[in-house]
Amino acid sequence: MTSDWISPAERLKALPPYVFARLDELKARARLQGIDLIDLGMGNPDGSAPQPVISAAIAALQNPANHGYPPFEGTASFRRAITSWYKRRYGVELDSDREVLPLLGSKEGLTHLALAYINPGDLVLVPSPAYPPHFRGPLIAGAKVHFLILKPENNWLIELSSIPDAVAEAAKILYFNYPSNPTGATAPREFFQEIVAFARRYQILLVHDLCYAELAFDGYQPTSLLEIDGAKEIGVEFHTMSKTYNMAGWRVGFVVGNPQVIQGLRTLKTNLDYGIFAAVQSAAQTALQLPDDYLHSVQERYRQRRNFLVEGLAKLGWNIPKPKAAMYLWLPCPPGQSSTDFALDVLQKTGIVVTPGNAFGPGGEGYVRVSLIADCDRLSEALRRLQAAGIRYQPLPTLVAKEST
Ligand SMILES: *Cc1c(COP(=O)(O)O)cnc(C)c1O
Repeated sequence: MTSDWISPAERLKALPPYVFARLDELKARARLQGIDLIDLGMGNPDGSAPQPVISAAIAALQNPANHGYPPFEGTASFRRAITSWYKRRYGVELDSDREVLPLLGSKEGLTHLALAYINPGDLVLVPSPAYPPHFRGPLIAGAKVHFLILKPENNWLIELSSIPDAVAEAAKILYFNYPSNPTGATAPREFFQEIVAFARRYQILLVHDLCYAELAFDGYQPTSLLEIDGAKEIGVEFHTMSKTYNMAGWRVGFVVGNPQVIQGLRTLKTNLDYGIFAAVQSAAQTALQLPDDYLHSVQERYRQRRNFLVEGLAKLGWNIPKPKAAMYLWLPCPPGQSSTDFALDVLQKTGIVVTPGNAFGPGGEGYVRVSLIADCDRLSEALRRLQAAGIRYQPLPTLVAKEST
């Protein structure tokens, strides 16, 4: 029974429809039928947090002082672990009181930042495809979202020069994310210099999501926004413990950068939550202090999966470059199939779950995202099923392509 006077606020109605409905329904049905699903849909790392992190959490649980409300602004020791990590990783000095704020996962902070800084009608620039909270947060806050459509021929980099002057003048915030979810694209340091200059020229608040700071391969080291001169005057950077440390369920991340922006977010959050369980902060602090050997083992795990799947998919017609970072492959759909149709087709014929690209905004249409969250044995089974079902990528013959233009 539904009552029409119980109507959600306009801010909920502003959200685009949920594209996973049909996929979820088919997944649930397949599970009931006992089909062995290979779920490469979500960016949810397999495996547990590292043992020293678990031990730190258990030790912290034994201390009654950790069982009360934690400090709003995060524990001083976790904040200091964050500034030490920044210094060690990027050579960047941060004030652990004013320029750092622990979060209940970065999604929470990315979305609340929008509520803290966006008035209804404000213009926000968001690349597309993008991690959905980068545009759903602003939409909830009532923003007018201007999508910057990314293109493969530009290596999925934002083309700053193609943003009309009037749009740049009106924009208040720009969200961005390299290494990128969902495309796996990385941005050279010069791009970071350009985007900082752009944001300073037009007085735009830059929000960089560096979720994949450590998941990089083949010697590539992702750039931090804060390594760029002047970035702290106009920007903040978000991090998460979810991916590198297999801590997605623990809900812990942090934001660093411009103290004024961080103060606004902190003020909003003191009205919404009570911070992060102190035992979780103790565990996160331990994670940031792990020796680099741990990182190397994680990188090696994803690098092997990436190589295995890229090489296997090449035999099925997908010739895609090996992404230098993150944990995804971004595959074009066979010509003529929308991202939803293709994802449903793959699920029905093979029991493999992939994410339709349109979940990441209009710029994701025509692609699906495959997460590298299963070991090579499972990925090998996935390749076998695709082959058996006759699913492959066949570019349009040139003649047809000509006729269709
Ligand atoms: C996975 C992911 C996150 C992580 O969010 P948490 O809320 O910290 O778990 C943030 N940004 C991007 C781009 C991601 O892919």
